[in-house]
Amino acid sequence: MMRRTDALAAAGEEFDVCIIGGGATGAGCALDAQLRGLKTLLVEANDFASVTSSASTKLIHGGIRYLREAALHFDPGQVGVVKRALQERVYMLHNAPFLAGAMEFIIPCYSRWESAYFGAGVKLYDLLAGKANLLPSRRLTRDQALQRMPTLKSDGLVGAVTYSDGQFDDAGYNLALVRTFAELGGVALNHARVMALERKPGEGLHSAQIQDEISRRTFEIRARAFVNATGPASDAIRRMANPKATPRLKLSKGAHILLPLQQFGSGDAMLIPETSDGRVIFAIPWMGRLLVGTTDDPVNEFGDVSLSDEDVGYLLHHLNQFVQKPLVTEQIIGGFAGIRPLISADSRSTKSLSRDHKVEVDEQTGLISILGGKWTTYRAMAEDTIDAVQRYLRQSVRECSTRNHPLSGSVGSTTTLCEELARTYRTSPETARHLVGKLGTNAVRVLELAAAAPELAEPIVDGFPAIRAEIVYSIRNDMAMSIEDILARRIGLQFYSWKLAAQAAPVVAQYLAREYGWSDERRQHAVDEYVGKLRRMLQTAGLGN
Ligand SMILES: Cc1cc2nc3c(=O)[nH]c(=O)nc-3n(C[C@H](O)[C@H](O)[C@H](O)COP(=O)(O)OP(=O)(O)OC[C@H]3O[C@@H](n4cnc5c(N)ncnc54)[C@H](O)[C@@H]3O)c2cc1C
Repeated sequence: MMRRTDALAAAGEEFDVCIIGGGATGAGCALDAQLRGLKTLLVEANDFASVTSSASTKLIHGGIRYLREAALHFDPGQVGVVKRALQERVYMLHNAPFLAGAMEFIIPCYSRWESAYFGAGVKLYDLLAGKANLLPSRRLTRDQALQRMPTLKSDGLVGAVTYSDGQFDDAGYNLALVRTFAELGGVALNHARVMALERKPGEGLHSAQIQDEISRRTFEIRARAFVNATGPASDAIRRMANPKATPRLKLSKGAHILLPLQQFGSGDAMLIPETSDGRVIFAIPWMGRLLVGTTDDPVNEFGDVSLSDEDVGYLLHHLNQFVQKPLVTEQIIGGFAGIRPLISADSRSTKSLSRDHKVEVDEQTGLISILGGKWTTYRAMAEDTIDAVQRYLRQSVRECSTRNHPLSGSVGSTTTLCEELARTYRTSPETARHLVGKLGTNAVRVLELAAAAPELAEPIVDGFPAIRAEIVYSIRNDMAMSIEDILARRIGLQFYSWKLAAQAAPVVAQYLAREYGWSDERRQHAVDEYVGKLRRMLQTAGLGN
């Protein structure tokens, strides 16, 4: 159980290590450090997973396109990065099977040459994965391809090739990492922003000033080592510790749109192998929607980013080259955008930059920064970082145990769990599936709440299987502090439909007000603020009001 009041009280102690940033990288570092016996504090400025780590394409992948980049730039290092990620893919799937699974991707081919070229690429991907391969790649005839994807543009289609990768719930996985860390005795605190890092002259960092973004109170935390795992904000934290630090990141925006899956007419995933600007685009079934992404546009700032009308136009344009019946803007039901925190390398474009990571220990301050990488390699990034922390603390480097450490909700999560829960708690199969997909065996705790108070067994809104007990569970056990914490990252409704999320906001606010003792005015303000944000997102994306 994660209670923010308990975490605030515990944050006053002295820690071996403080991890700054509660995205995938920071949560992975916190879990690894705690498992090695380090007394660990995790501080996150917003909510866990609220920045890049819930804005990914949701792929656990080696990155098939990086193989092409490796060939184009004669870069064997890139091949090594792909190979390592393919191995990490297996650990990620294994440690939280309720949040992740294997998926087959179809690459349509419109000439014999394409068929041979993509066929060779996917075979190489299989070979690199070796024993870590999920499903072997295959060739599909034209008829087989159209059977799997009836809406595929058939003019000129000669067939398809398939390959496999993993797919996951990124926000859910991030939260499961934080829960697992907290269950092991780690202290995790969200809505707590590092404002300043402090040290005595000639010594390493020893404390940080934190602003509690809920109460606006500032306080100090103390630790013997500090890890900067702030993704796109990493250069800002490096400069906070050492104003002479030179920037290391190159930032790139990536956007996605969500469409109703039935409009696509297939339950299979497609990889669009070549866009006009030399990228790939995925069209993937995800949580009952079709997720289409992503773009890649260099940016200078890491502030709030959102889906723009240009992003929408770009993604629909490329998707529509491959389908019989074009999809249109009016069908879009949501979307999101994020910033890739890539390590800069000479003048290469962001799409060709390696997804490798680097651990940097600042010589003057001892700040340990983990830079670059991707979701799939969060565990390996954490392992390298905590090795560096132990070296910095002049400890012997203890063996990392995260390769095989099941995340909270995984143990006992069988394939029949959904049916058992639906039967025992007399809930719909859809609700049971939704709860288990988010929480694994922790779903029982939500259903226990609903069993004790029948009002909590009611749906939050019609058209989505989440029930009200999830709101209460998120507040009492999962440190949810706002409507967005609940609807975006705990329940996932914001990633399913902006319209339904706006409808759900007053219901969620009612429970937040009850649990936290908010006044009517504060409750209404929270609803207005959240719905206003959704409205702005719609407008920026050119989707009306
Ligand atoms: C469009 C897109 C698609 C992607 N798709 C994939 C994919 O399919 N598969 C894959 O493997 N990878 C993918 N990635 C990459 C992956 O999402 C990122 O590498 C990963 O999420 C980065 O995690 P992070 O924890 O480093 O950063 P973040 O998730 O951004 O976390 C950093 C955290 O630090 C916090 N923070 C910042 N400043 C402070 C402060 N002063 N005090 C306290 N906290 C602070 C922030 O609030 C934030 O939560 C994608 C990335 C993008 C942008």
